[in-house]
Amino acid sequence: MDAKMHAIAKSCKGFLEDDEGLRLYELAREAAVLGPVVEIGSYCGKSSVYLGCGAREAGGALLCIDHHRGSEEHQPGEEYHDPELFDEHVGLLDSLPELRRSIADAGLEDTAVPIVASSPRAAEIVATPVGMVFIDGGHSEEAASTDYESWSGKIASGGILAIHDLFPNPEEGGQAPINIYRRALATELFDELPTTGTLGALRRR
Ligand code: MG
Repeated sequence: MDAKMHAIAKSCKGFLEDDEGLRLYELAREAAVLGPVVEIGSYCGKSSVYLGCGAREAGGALLCIDHHRGSEEHQPGEEYHDPELFDEHVGLLDSLPELRRSIADAGLEDTAVPIVASSPRAAEIVATPVGMVFIDGGHSEEAASTDYESWSGKIASGGILAIHDLFPNPEEGGQAPINIYRRALATELFDELPTTGTLGALRRR
């Protein structure tokens, strides 16, 4: 990854380790030739910069899907609430301006296309087979299941399903992401690729 872009990605707000981000960059660069890369849960754009740089190198595109009202853990009073992202006028979180800054900083405005919508609503609109889906949205069982059910069937043969926040040990983190990872594996439609940190990757057969 280009050193300047790498520095921008590292400076973005977000909850993604650098080795996981570099893995996303590599996966997106490979998968974007098959169709658009879809990111569920862009938040402030940290993973968008890694994914977008990979997609751009392949001449592809990235769809950054997020309702931008924050997940459960971002709400006021919760562990990961960021007061800088609170929109007093609406009385809700709004991470879209920060995402747009990240995309602009990385010069990705022709590659990374934000879609401000819930993941299932966006899935109703995006009909084309996609090259890659990265699921990093809500971490409740219901949110993760909805993301999985909405998007996993859209991945082109040879494409990638990546899922963040896999914790094989339940004492280390929530189980919703790893539960959908296991569901995908159980379909026998995917082959397991090496995991990077808490980032799992599967290839569609
Ligand atoms: Mg995450």
